[in-house]
Amino acid sequence: MTPLAIGVIVGIEPSPEQALTYVRDMGIPTVQISYPGGLDTPDGIALIKRALAETGIEITSVVCGFEGDQYSDIATVQATVGLVPESTRAERLKHIRQASDFASKLGVTRLQTHIGYVPEDPSDPAYQDVVAAMRTVCDDVARHGQVFALETGQETGAGLRRFIDDVDKLNLRVNFDPANMILYGNDNPIEALDILAPFIDGVHCKDGCWPTQEGQLGTEMPLGQGDVDFTRWLKKLIALGYRGPLTIEREIHGEQQRKDILLAKELIESITRQINR
Ligand code: MG
Repeated sequence: MTPLAIGVIVGIEPSPEQALTYVRDMGIPTVQISYPGGLDTPDGIALIKRALAETGIEITSVVCGFEGDQYSDIATVQATVGLVPESTRAERLKHIRQASDFASKLGVTRLQTHIGYVPEDPSDPAYQDVVAAMRTVCDDVARHGQVFALETGQETGAGLRRFIDDVDKLNLRVNFDPANMILYGNDNPIEALDILAPFIDGVHCKDGCWPTQEGQLGTEMPLGQGDVDFTRWLKKLIALGYRGPLTIEREIHGEQQRKDILLAKELIESITRQINR
């Protein structure tokens, strides 16, 4: 992969060929894909490999979402998302193992997810449970030589750093989504880069505005139009040594999503051009 290659996060079900052709036609060379359970069969994997060969696109990460994850407001996220809720933890650990096996068949060495609202207080009993679950995940994906990246946002940068230090596994990484820190009202994504930089091996180029109501999430915006100050954020990320993919995320659908992705691509290219000059 070219350093700082542009990417986009996509679903590839039901047709990997259609999904990856759509990406290639936007001039984007890499993708993060949502774990496509319906294609996790020998035939499905063959279809994906053919689509990758035909389009020349590289998968940089497999993203595990979970059935039952709900993002409607802060309380619902705390109750439903990731590895934090105890009632669904065992089945979700199994789901990650499946996704890891799937990724290895495609030669993908990176998995990632939102693990949920890790308690900020390490003396909360749930904190130690999530640390233990995370160690299990790291060991599971290490079987295939993979790393596992935590998506930022549902905690402060300092809280996430302490969690990483406590899990203490060499293959734990960060997928830094600067918009999430703002959408969840948690932290300043430019300042948080300093504390998380050594662990960042992937990012989401996404923007958003701070929440305006207690308990609610903020509003996602087209890249460059929210409160992230994306240009400053990206320049600082690169100055800190980051050379991984720059994966655009725009959580809407249809033609407007395509337009916003293309505008995001232009913005990123204008920033990296300035740096290269
Ligand atoms: Mg994201």
